[in-house]
Amino acid sequence: MKKKRKPFDDKRDKIVFLGTGGGRVVVFSQVRASGGLWFQLDGTIFVVDPGPGALVKATSMGINMEKLRAIFISHRHLDHCADVNSIILAMTDGARKKKGIVFAPPDAIDEDSVILEYCKNTVENIIRLKQGGKYKIDTISLYTPIRFIHPPQTFGVTIESERYTISYITDTLWFDELPRIFQGDVVIMNTVFKEPRKGFYHLCIHDVEKYLSVYKPKILILNHFGMAFLRAKPWEWAERISKQFNTRVLAAWDNMIFDLDEET
Ligand SMILES: [Zn+2]
Repeated sequence: MKKKRKPFDDKRDKIVFLGTGGGRVVVFSQVRASGGLWFQLDGTIFVVDPGPGALVKATSMGINMEKLRAIFISHRHLDHCADVNSIILAMTDGARKKKGIVFAPPDAIDEDSVILEYCKNTVENIIRLKQGGKYKIDTISLYTPIRFIHPPQTFGVTIESERYTISYITDTLWFDELPRIFQGDVVIMNTVFKEPRKGFYHLCIHDVEKYLSVYKPKILILNHFGMAFLRAKPWEWAERISKQFNTRVLAAWDNMIFDLDEET
């Protein structure tokens, strides 16, 4: 039997995509998983947007939950935070240790909290995200420059480690400042739709084109796919746009390990 690959065994800087599904249909039928983005940067492990299944996916990938330092929630929709309580308990040895940081918008903490009270009490620090916010996890800096256009309070984030800058553009409607405000070497973009849909506050593939016509990162990674876009094969669109803009564009897949040292 092949030895199971344990991505967090080494000290390499990486992003592990434990879920690339987006939108109600894909997430709640688990056509694509929703286990969030797991980072290891400068030896620090943290998770962004742990949706349904995040704990199961992370442990099966060999991530040592006791080494987890922080949880970042971009907004209160369940595909971004459903597993936050389970992960807090995994991180704190079942609420026996007080440790870790949770970052979330105020409406995910103070109104109909997505975090249960006893889970709140076992975390060392709960930080309410705000526009223009700057935060730290060990050597890592996090920036939330602007509130996104999405029904609950929603924040994208730029993550800066010693060697890498990564922008995570979570769920939002397009706005023109987006490519000027979020300029990571690596850009992860939640591209739910192929075509825009009225009444839904999500990005589509044409927004990726708009973004790249203003700013070209080293690599742009499409993520968080809805059903119609999945049927339209986002990996083919990634290739097409990649050629069109002469920039690396990749459509993420479940369990994709993005090794920053190798890829950038
Ligand atoms: Zn959302």
